[in-house]
Amino acid sequence: MPLLQVKNLKTYYQTARGYVKAVDGVNFQIEEGEVFGLAGESGCGKTTVALSIIRLLPPGGRIIDGKIIFNDKNILTMSEEDIRKIRWKKIAIVFQGAMNALNPVIKVGDQIVEAITTHENVSKEDAWKRTEKLFEMVGIDPSRAKDYPHEFSGGMKQRVMIAMALACNPQLLIADEPATALDVIVQAQILKLMRELQRKMNLSMMLITHDLSIIAETCNKVAIMYAGKIVEYADTKRIFRDPQHPYTRGLINAFPSIRGPKRKLISIPGTPPDLLNPPSGCRFHPRCPYTNDKCKKIEPELKDIGERHYVACHMSW
Ligand code: SF4
Repeated sequence: MPLLQVKNLKTYYQTARGYVKAVDGVNFQIEEGEVFGLAGESGCGKTTVALSIIRLLPPGGRIIDGKIIFNDKNILTMSEEDIRKIRWKKIAIVFQGAMNALNPVIKVGDQIVEAITTHENVSKEDAWKRTEKLFEMVGIDPSRAKDYPHEFSGGMKQRVMIAMALACNPQLLIADEPATALDVIVQAQILKLMRELQRKMNLSMMLITHDLSIIAETCNKVAIMYAGKIVEYADTKRIFRDPQHPYTRGLINAFPSIRGPKRKLISIPGTPPDLLNPPSGCRFHPRCPYTNDKCKKIEPELKDIGERHYVACHMSW
């Protein structure tokens, strides 16, 4: 039984002009100990999927349909009290730019102690001991737990946020663009740290990013999202070796390959659609070089083309 199953998830935002269909029928699952990547351009609905899983949508956001099964229970039908027991303790999240969320006037260690004592019935003394261990785990000298956020670099603050996310020993860690605001070298260190912790703790991880090179280095499985829908979903190696959807091919061509031969980078023409009024048929058709009449009228279903490789395209090759 997978740890998490997302089934036909639809999350819309109500606006004065109508519903923005940010997530529109998304399906995937994450096994125990697996690193699952959710990739796509900004605004494709990746973060909304994450916020739906922990039921922390911003005002105007509503889950219209679907199921989110975690440990055999549907998160979407749980009471507020039950979901609070899962959040942080079972499912933790590191948001994009989370390091800026540290309270500047409270010592970083105290902020982690507070997170632990809020969710678990432990003494402050024990929570402090756990905080020091967490600091060691994320590669920070435990004595630095007594310092304030302004005494840390961006990379160190992000390590603190990872320590905080892992403080209650969750089963699933969601990391939403965890290294985007950092320079490339620190970015690589943070991702390496996350991979090491994931293996050591046998954590399941959902990594959200627009950067396919991060997916290639980190994830076992990947789903490519476009305009609120998953357009391709498979084992990571398979997607990079044999991408089928024109959008996935476009994304791969737009990123440099570190190990492969030198090639010209080609960006995908056009821009993602307005999800208030998405295109008919295949949502990628205004940008796709292979569009035909069928693509404009009929929405392609996500179909298994073999070996659990799913593609939503009328012309999957
Ligand atoms: Fe392109 Fe048509 Fe496939 Fe959509 S269904 S990706 S428009 S070929």
